[in-house]
Amino acid sequence: MTNTGYGGLRFDHRFAALPATFYTAMPAKGMMTKPKLLTANPSVAARIGLDSACFATPEFAEIFAGNAPLPGGKPLAMVYSGHQFGVWAGQLGDGRALLLGQVRDANQQLWDIQLKGSGRTPYSRMGDGRAVLRSCVREYLAGIALEGLGVPTTHALCLIGTGSMVQRETPEPGCVLTRIAPSHIRFGHFEHFAHHGMRNQIPLLLDHVINEYFPGLSYREYLSTLATRTAELIGDWQAIGFAHGVMNTDNMSALGFTIDYGPYGFLDRFDLGFICNHSDHQGRYRFDCQPEIAHWNLLALCTALQSMIPWSESQDILKSFYPTLIARYHSRMMAKLGLPSEASDRTLWQDFLMLLQESQADYTLSLRALAEWLRTQAGKLPFAHAEGAEQWLATYRDVLKGYGTPVQIAEAMDRHNPQYILRNWLAEEVIRALEDHDDPAPLHKLESVLAQPFNDHSDCLPWRAPPPAHYSGLAVSCSS
Ligand code: AMP
Ligand code: MG
Repeated sequence: MTNTGYGGLRFDHRFAALPATFYTAMPAKGMMTKPKLLTANPSVAARIGLDSACFATPEFAEIFAGNAPLPGGKPLAMVYSGHQFGVWAGQLGDGRALLLGQVRDANQQLWDIQLKGSGRTPYSRMGDGRAVLRSCVREYLAGIALEGLGVPTTHALCLIGTGSMVQRETPEPGCVLTRIAPSHIRFGHFEHFAHHGMRNQIPLLLDHVINEYFPGLSYREYLSTLATRTAELIGDWQAIGFAHGVMNTDNMSALGFTIDYGPYGFLDRFDLGFICNHSDHQGRYRFDCQPEIAHWNLLALCTALQSMIPWSESQDILKSFYPTLIARYHSRMMAKLGLPSEASDRTLWQDFLMLLQESQADYTLSLRALAEWLRTQAGKLPFAHAEGAEQWLATYRDVLKGYGTPVQIAEAMDRHNPQYILRNWLAEEVIRALEDHDDPAPLHKLESVLAQPFNDHSDCLPWRAPPPAHYSGLAVSCSS
């Protein structure tokens, strides 16, 4: 049953209808001293049916800081478990997140509205339940950036500065992020029940996920659909040059989109060995390991589902994981080179990437430069000095012949190669403006650039550049 509440939201609390073994019902702690709206996204509000006129009201900041209840909401913290860095970590859960409630949009699609950083829950373990401004800004921007590049992701509704400091390596300004997604259920939700002697809860969870998000599918079809979505998602990440950084099973969406942005990174120079998470000493979540790690995580999910889907059947289902991932990646990479998937085999982009790796060229700028080189038939390419570059360019030109004039190809490339990506140094600039000068203007500007990353944004041209010297080696760790 839906009931209309705050800002026109139409509530339908489906997760709360599950048994108490799935969560702890609780209000937000509500102890933020001076909630202040830093930014809010009207298109995200529209998506969930929230009237964005609310943004300007004092209640909005109070509600989304967790100080006041969301009228019509039904707050709860979810329990889940997971494998972290390849090791069973036991019970985890919403340690600093709180599901305020679920709503239906005009198309009857269900959406979670979730706070992050609103205070301790029974699943906080040693944590303080808080989030810092730096990590909230990064998560807020990442949702916009991935969506701008056509990659499935959670979204952020708003950022509320709390007015209090949070202790990390040093004291940092606190913040509460509100994120939305059809669901925040993770692989780790299934693992939780499988590893804690509650196997009889697994069909309840499967039925919930399937009824709400995959109506009509059998358990096997759900697993197969999730494996396909996950494979396509990782194909997308590899093609846009995105490293998640913490692909633990509790950070893998049961619906197959990007979730839980922590120390993620976008490639500046092309580097298969890119490790974006400073705390990842072994390089488990290195850029080129992401496909294998996603497969490993799916195996952990299959293990948890063994009582419902026999192992031999789930392994049959997973056989299509790598072919699906490679097909997605291939078609994205060919589009980046201005070509349809069937124009060439994978050696075309493989050889291209080797040239970039060898010449340490910037991934994004090299692709834009290649289009410009086609258009003008002049100019020096960033990877031109690498061994084999001339040979590769000759092969590339040959392949292009059947598919349009160089100018037409260049135009097609520009629709698939962004000018702007969410480089760490840009996030850092925006964070410093907020932290040091209380200035949200750069954040607002970067939001609009990342939402339209293929456009010119002539007033932001310096933001296309790789990190300036004083930002090189910027490290991002798990602690946030
Ligand atoms: P992550 O890998 O960052 O997604 O976090 C792993 C687990 O730790 C999740 O269950 C989080 O809810 C929890 N967690 C992370 N940071 C905090 C914090 N500051 N307070 C309480 N729990 C936290
Ligand atoms: Mg997480």
